[in-house]
Amino acid sequence: MPIINSTNTDLLKEFYDKDIFQIPELRATTQDIRPLKIGIVNLMPNKKETEIHLMKALSNTPLQIELDLIRTKSRKSKYTDMEYLTKNYKTLNEIKNNKYDGLIITGAPVEHLEFEEIDYWDELKELFEFARTHVYSSLFICWASQAALYYYYGVQKRNLGSKLSGVFEYELAEDSKLTRGLDDNFFYPQSRNTENEEAELRKVPDLKILARSDEAGVCISSSVDERFVFISGHGEYDTDTLYNEYIRDLSKGINPSIPRNYFKNDDPSNRILVRWKSSASLIFSNWINYFVYQQTPYQIEKIEQKVVAKFGGSSLSDSAQFAKTKDIILSDKNRTHIVVSAPGKRHDEDIKVTDLLESCYELKIKQLEIEKQRKKALGQVYERFKEISENLKLPSHVFSLISKTVEDIEDSIHRDFIISRGEYLNAQVLAAHLGYRFIDASELIFFDETGLVDEAKTYLEIQKKLNKEEFVVIPGFYGKDFNGNIKTFERGGSDITGSIIARGMSADLYENWTDVDGVMTDDPRINENAVTISEMSYEQLLEMSRNGAKVYHPDAVNPVATASIPLRICNTNKPSNLGTLIQKTKHNN
Ligand code: ASP
Repeated sequence: MPIINSTNTDLLKEFYDKDIFQIPELRATTQDIRPLKIGIVNLMPNKKETEIHLMKALSNTPLQIELDLIRTKSRKSKYTDMEYLTKNYKTLNEIKNNKYDGLIITGAPVEHLEFEEIDYWDELKELFEFARTHVYSSLFICWASQAALYYYYGVQKRNLGSKLSGVFEYELAEDSKLTRGLDDNFFYPQSRNTENEEAELRKVPDLKILARSDEAGVCISSSVDERFVFISGHGEYDTDTLYNEYIRDLSKGINPSIPRNYFKNDDPSNRILVRWKSSASLIFSNWINYFVYQQTPYQIEKIEQKVVAKFGGSSLSDSAQFAKTKDIILSDKNRTHIVVSAPGKRHDEDIKVTDLLESCYELKIKQLEIEKQRKKALGQVYERFKEISENLKLPSHVFSLISKTVEDIEDSIHRDFIISRGEYLNAQVLAAHLGYRFIDASELIFFDETGLVDEAKTYLEIQKKLNKEEFVVIPGFYGKDFNGNIKTFERGGSDITGSIIARGMSADLYENWTDVDGVMTDDPRINENAVTISEMSYEQLLEMSRNGAKVYHPDAVNPVATASIPLRICNTNKPSNLGTLIQKTKHNN
């Protein structure tokens, strides 16, 4: 694709019509095509050289590209002067409100350090999060691929012992549009001291290995939805880049091995055998064409992540809380799939709707003469929903639905049906309030004969019914059993519903909105020094939930953990707080 614009205009001028295919802006505006917005986070020491490499690699299709060069601000470059960087590069702060069709993060000379030891690691983590929400497809090269695999999936890098340098032959391992048109075997340059082991990558359900070799490991992998691409090598390298690195290392006295399969007969005095450029060019063009251009929305602002957001009972306990919940949902258009609990306590002495329903059931079943008490509890349920709906000025059909559901509860002796009606009605009310569609959990979540979730059927139905549907509200806490009756999870089980929906939809994020600031070091009502834990692993959350922390149901960890979907626990009453982010941070979590 011609490059029509870049933050580094000097460089474009220098290379005009030489190696980087460019078209003037005037001509670009007369082509009826939206230019793709690509960001390059350049972490390589020789920034200018890398810019040229990548621009050449990217400029080879008929599509138009606008480039932003991005740098970290927490690190001063040793080899590139600050004036050049400030003139041509933007920092994360400057781009954080932009959306990009594609983002490339390059390699970096920091392989010898643990990721957390790197001075710009925090900034990089922000960039990885940014890639999830503001970028259609991200391409991570060499060290950045190892860093991203560690950040997103907890895969550790491994030291190779000696540098893997040279041009290696790879075979295609799985069908993908990224490698379309490549021969079964192709060559790709490598230059690194660390690797991701193939066996470790294969353990991650969200990863596909696209090209590999016995000799040089995995060359290309991607996430299942193909929005993250990880390339371990440097297809963008020029003819002499590996040679220059070899000479540099020689002069440093490192005693490097001769780059393999690079010089004719592996003799540095012979010519360089260029065998990777056509494959590399095809891979970059395929990325730009298939993974970016053919998929990214025409309106770049629509690049989005799929967020499933679950709101607990305290977030929906009365109409004021409904209003806060509505603001939160509407403040981010990615929040398209909402799961709700029944109205919780409005104050300490209050009774949760599910508890009221539970006593309706108990009193009925025990056939106590205290019919009055049962009627009272049911009356309270009716009043609660009526009050919320009146305050929210909801249309009359909502009131009819509330009355009808209360009658259904009267007529039923089925516990799970009765106690699930809190979620059912709350989802109906919130859907009417938001103008969203109500989809019943009994159409999405199925239990088998043994009472466990029938995963195959459940995930199939979720994919079928929800993937094309946006702006829906789903009641938490229940599904349908083997005989077609309503069946609930354990108390607190709306968390499980949300987690299952997030997994079924391959969401990018599962938000769990509650009334505390996230996972805390202690119960804040007992210990005023309790603080929020900003990040933790699924394993740590599971352990805390099993040990009695009430903030999240332990059975709700597994669905999101299996699919490596990050979970954020946040406070409906303080929506700008970041809460706790739970994700795969260490291997085997
Ligand atoms: N409303 C149900 C309960 O109180 C389920 C939930 O809130 O998650 O247990």
